[in-house]
Amino acid sequence: MSASVSDSTARGTEPVRPYRILVLGAGFGGLYTAVYLARYLRNHPNVWITVIDRRNYFLFTPMLHSTATGALEPRYIAHSVRKIFRKTRIHAHIGEVLGIDLENRSVSTVHRTMQFDELVLSLGSETNFYGMEARLENAFTLKSLKDAAAINNHLIRMFEKAYWEEDPQVRSAALTFVVVGGGPTGVELAGEIHEYANRELLRDFGRRIRKEEIRVILVEATRRILPSLPENLSDEALERLKKIGIEVFLEARLSGYRNHVMEIEGRLPVRTETLVWAAGVRTSPLISSLPLARDPQGRIKVKGTLESLSMDHVWVVGDNASCLNPYEGKPYPPTAQTAVRQAKVAAYNIAARILRKPEKIFSHHHIGGFVSIGNNYALLSAKQFTLSGILGWFLWNLVYIHKLPIIRYRLFSTFGLFLKVFFERATTEIDLCPEYEESSRNAAGSGSARE
Ligand SMILES: Cc1cc2nc3c(=O)[nH]c(=O)nc-3n(C[C@H](O)[C@H](O)[C@H](O)COP(=O)(O)OP(=O)(O)OC[C@H]3O[C@@H](n4cnc5c(N)ncnc54)[C@H](O)[C@@H]3O)c2cc1C
Repeated sequence: MSASVSDSTARGTEPVRPYRILVLGAGFGGLYTAVYLARYLRNHPNVWITVIDRRNYFLFTPMLHSTATGALEPRYIAHSVRKIFRKTRIHAHIGEVLGIDLENRSVSTVHRTMQFDELVLSLGSETNFYGMEARLENAFTLKSLKDAAAINNHLIRMFEKAYWEEDPQVRSAALTFVVVGGGPTGVELAGEIHEYANRELLRDFGRRIRKEEIRVILVEATRRILPSLPENLSDEALERLKKIGIEVFLEARLSGYRNHVMEIEGRLPVRTETLVWAAGVRTSPLISSLPLARDPQGRIKVKGTLESLSMDHVWVVGDNASCLNPYEGKPYPPTAQTAVRQAKVAAYNIAARILRKPEKIFSHHHIGGFVSIGNNYALLSAKQFTLSGILGWFLWNLVYIHKLPIIRYRLFSTFGLFLKVFFERATTEIDLCPEYEESSRNAAGSGSARE
């Protein structure tokens, strides 16, 4: 074990070396770990806490679909980490992590190499195409703010295209919107696209586009959507999607998407210019290539304390952690809820290790889940309690907005979302950087899935 804070302060006249905690990732796991660490170690100024992230903001992913469909301004869900850390002693280092050297206890970013005494891995996950990349031409994903802005712009452009288009086939491809993946992200996005297209965009383009021309399709490979919810709620969600007019293809396996044609095994091809891939996530190669005990998905196996099973002083939280739920005998799901709860325990245990106190074991009962399905409707399932409809939707918003770190944005988001019930959403394109714009505008060209 490396020196504890008390050891290093007891070295007499030698300059005292700070005890360095490096947290990789400022998402749900990393940001909250750092904030709790600062709290638990507030009387130990000689401990340095540094958070490294490629972005200078914490992204509130549960509301990303609202940004992709004009309901929330991008910055309301992207909060500056420097603002969040301003009144703490946490340092932020903004830069891409390129390498993690566990043997020499260092992390390299594009800018510098930093040493650590304790390391927290919380780099999240990336889109999993299940080996389909080469067969998906210009598919969208929804993982980042840029993805959300690109989807938003593309939806508007498809209406612009259809507005003047006379060829019925081209028109139909422009006005058909496909989301692949029947988990919460896919269901929520399909619901929001449906609402955005049918309520908002149709108001702007209604002179030359009819409601009957708009198709929103949700494609799911298994026999049911939302497998993490109880079966009766999955069924209710399915009914709801169909009722508002979304076509749901169950047990539908996508075999390719090229030249604006979606191929599904055993079904007729569908012409569409919009396909969003929301079918799953996988561990980033940076994490899954580390010489640590891993599960088949590449996530790092941890002890109950959230320290790596195979290496001391390396802690793992959020999507990177393979942590067994003792109540269910299977790993905790990769959700924000899990990440935030793990962050608190990991921070506690790191502080306990430094201060030589007993450590805690992570365990929690999953409280349940929310899923919003367009038109101000959400399903809530928590323990024995279920709720749906507009009441569920209000609760969905209150819970999520309350979790935004910066209070100012909580207020903006509350106003924004509640005003959307009575007023219109934004139908303006969001400016993106030039290269991205270029590839987005040339959506008809060749290439593979965007990331
Ligand atoms: C669209 C969408 C909707 C979701 N909705 C919900 C929901 O409603 N409820 C729920 O519980 N969960 C939801 N999730 C899942 C949730 O976002 C994740 O489970 C959670 O973010 C995991 O936390 P994390 O800290 O492991 O990773 P993240 O929050 O993703 O944080 C990882 C951080 O690491 C940074 N990073 C990654 N690689 C590098 C690198 N090489 N160098 C530097 N920085 C790097 C990233 O920029 C990011 O800030 C949703 C996810 C998505 C994509």
